[in-house]
Amino acid sequence: MESKTIILGGGLTGLSACYHSDAIVYEKNNNIGGHARSHIKNGFVFDEGIHVLHTKNEYVLNLLKDLKVDLEVRERSAWIFSHGSMTRFPFQANTFGLPANIIKDCLLGFIENEFTDRKKITNYKEWNYYMFGKGFADHFMLPYCKKFWGVDAEKLTTDWVNVRHPRPSLKEVITGALEDQTKGFGVNAFYRYPKRKGFGYIAESIAKKCKDRIYTNMEASNINLNKKEVEFNKDIVVSYNKLLSTLPLPELIKIIPDAPEDVRNAVSKLKNNSIFVVNIAINRENISDKNWIYYLGKEYTFIRLIFPSNTSEHSVPPGFSSISAEISYGHDNPLPTNKEKLADRIIKELIEINIINEKDEIVYLDTIDIKYGYVIFDKERKPAIQKIHNYLKSVDIIPCGRYGLWAYMWSDEAILSGKKAAEKITL
Ligand SMILES: Cc1cc2nc3c(=O)[nH]c(=O)nc-3n(C[C@H](O)[C@H](O)[C@H](O)COP(=O)(O)OP(=O)(O)OC[C@H]3O[C@@H](n4cnc5c(N)ncnc54)[C@H](O)[C@@H]3O)c2cc1C
Repeated sequence: MESKTIILGGGLTGLSACYHSDAIVYEKNNNIGGHARSHIKNGFVFDEGIHVLHTKNEYVLNLLKDLKVDLEVRERSAWIFSHGSMTRFPFQANTFGLPANIIKDCLLGFIENEFTDRKKITNYKEWNYYMFGKGFADHFMLPYCKKFWGVDAEKLTTDWVNVRHPRPSLKEVITGALEDQTKGFGVNAFYRYPKRKGFGYIAESIAKKCKDRIYTNMEASNINLNKKEVEFNKDIVVSYNKLLSTLPLPELIKIIPDAPEDVRNAVSKLKNNSIFVVNIAINRENISDKNWIYYLGKEYTFIRLIFPSNTSEHSVPPGFSSISAEISYGHDNPLPTNKEKLADRIIKELIEINIINEKDEIVYLDTIDIKYGYVIFDKERKPAIQKIHNYLKSVDIIPCGRYGLWAYMWSDEAILSGKKAAEKITL
């Protein structure tokens, strides 16, 4: 087998790069889509953790329209369970229903905020104090940070926060403390989702347009820089002219035997959390009216429960409901039990909190272990990436995508990243 321009990885980035060029994709799995794929069995559709499209990018929206993805617009219903109460997301705009002392701390912290000097902010903890005040930070943002990222907020930088943390006005904070404020906040207050076949239908639709240029079950196992060859499955060797990689940087550097020691050291500085997903379906409809609920307390193994049957009614056959439990782990967040026992533990916890009951029949149970979940933005990230990217540039490899750029990238950004990389290889 011979080829000229190779794309490693058939997730959204690789597929988009393929669509925007005449290059060939090599994907290690037997299916395409990467983390944006859907798992479909017996009429049940599960994504790899929550996946909704909230892009406002015209190019992406037009592309998906051209590809006839048939996206439906829906209103999000996101909630938080903390301090014994269920409140609307985001916490900083919706304290109604929380214990009075928590509401008091949050309001006072927001109004009498002493962290007013933007220039003094050096980390995510201080940023939270500055943006929302001590009450909101101490009662939600900081413990949530620890449960999700597995590291203390002081260790995180602030170059990833942008639209991810909507800051309500004082009027909204007060309204949200006094009444059930239904106004939506944040980028995904309304979201788009494919009418059928799950979020993965987006990747499938891109792949359909370039399907004779996608090879699956092809795991890149070695890159010979001198010969400009990639070895797949420790067996098949393909020569390349240009090489584009969407592989997680640690996986990419691992298969380049020539990579120097300082680059390997830089890789060892990269951090990410991992997400373990337990997917469950039961023989009862409408078990919840919500899209997802965050769980702050350490007593809950999961950080979030998602109800795919509410993301789209086509995610389950009539008469059934589905739940995805997302468990974040890594760093200071060890898993509470081994992976084989996690599903049972989650089911037990779901019964304890009355999401499912003993009489429900579990008709679908599966787990997905996402080793590379979310990239951790700490102080070591930027210099490490610079070192690795400079090296890749020197050996003519173009990294792209969420794990090639080692960034907090949503699906639309992955599509755009693939396009941008394709433009580099088609020059
Ligand atoms: C839990 C979770 C929830 C998310 N929720 C949302 C959301 O709600 N909305 C949103 O817009 N985005 C969301 N995202 C982000 C979105 O999934 C990503 O931005 C996007 O999928 C990244 O695509 P990618 O192609 O860059 O990476 P990937 O999807 O990781 O693709 C990389 C591909 O490379 C393949 N590969 C790895 N090693 C090799 C090898 N050696 N040889 C060949 N192939 C290899 C992998 O199998 C994979 O298919 C979420 C991500 C996660 C993890």
